[in-house]
Amino acid sequence: MKIGCHVSISGGIQNTFERADSLGCESLQIFTQNQRQWKSVEYDQSTLQNFHSERKQHHFDGVPIIAHASYLINLCAQEPEKLEKSRRAFIEELKRCDQLGIAGLVIHPGAHGGNGEEWGIAAIADSINYALDVYNPQVQILLETTAGQGTGIGSRFAHLKKIMELVILKPKMGICVDTCHIFAAGYDIRSEESWADTLQKMDDSFGLEQVAAFHLNDSKKEFNSHRDRHAPIAEGYIGAESFEILMQMERFKEIPGILEVPGGDAVFMENIKRLKNMRGKDKS
Ligand SMILES: [Zn+2]
Ligand SMILES: [Zn+2]
Repeated sequence: MKIGCHVSISGGIQNTFERADSLGCESLQIFTQNQRQWKSVEYDQSTLQNFHSERKQHHFDGVPIIAHASYLINLCAQEPEKLEKSRRAFIEELKRCDQLGIAGLVIHPGAHGGNGEEWGIAAIADSINYALDVYNPQVQILLETTAGQGTGIGSRFAHLKKIMELVILKPKMGICVDTCHIFAAGYDIRSEESWADTLQKMDDSFGLEQVAAFHLNDSKKEFNSHRDRHAPIAEGYIGAESFEILMQMERFKEIPGILEVPGGDAVFMENIKRLKNMRGKDKS
């Protein structure tokens, strides 16, 4: 796996790669703008040129990097106004990703707000079809597995499979597996056997070939808790063995594995080292 972390863009997106480099990232994830703001940012030519030349200079031009969509977006919002806002913001996210040369845009599928899973799944697919009709992007849309808090869609692999079936432009779709979320949702990954079982379940639903990225997080909450609380690697209920097994899986060698653990840059740096050691190819 290409190990990295979520990198802050504070101070400007042109700082992304220097920061990533200093943390020991082999890949990375960013927000393409302030994730808690509806208003869409437009990057001018010089900022974009700067971003691309920095990427090259820090040798990230050959690796897929990903972005995480704004937390405000809900592709199955009940209120028409909120839905419209979400769809518009989502389209702008896709455009910014293309400008920045980002390979995958990770998005939480959505929260149905009481209308039910089936309704939510159909509404999310409608929103994606609408967005892809307005703007046909280079970037892939990566649906993230979720922990199953509240009315959130995506805690069952079958949810993601159904959304993907309903999307017309299937090659634009992929999956981001968050280890903390699937564990919280009741998919065990603590041993060789349980990993094999969970991978089989993925393969039987959306298909393992759809997995384009991982979020690498341990869990502060117990198995099947339906609570989304990230912990540093080997410091939660998932434990070291699970990540050792994952780090050595050949089939995910080329895809980004992104830490989203609490504690800031010092913890990121330490966790990146830890994961590289688990993979057994630490060159740093
Ligand atoms: Zn995540
Ligand atoms: Zn999470």
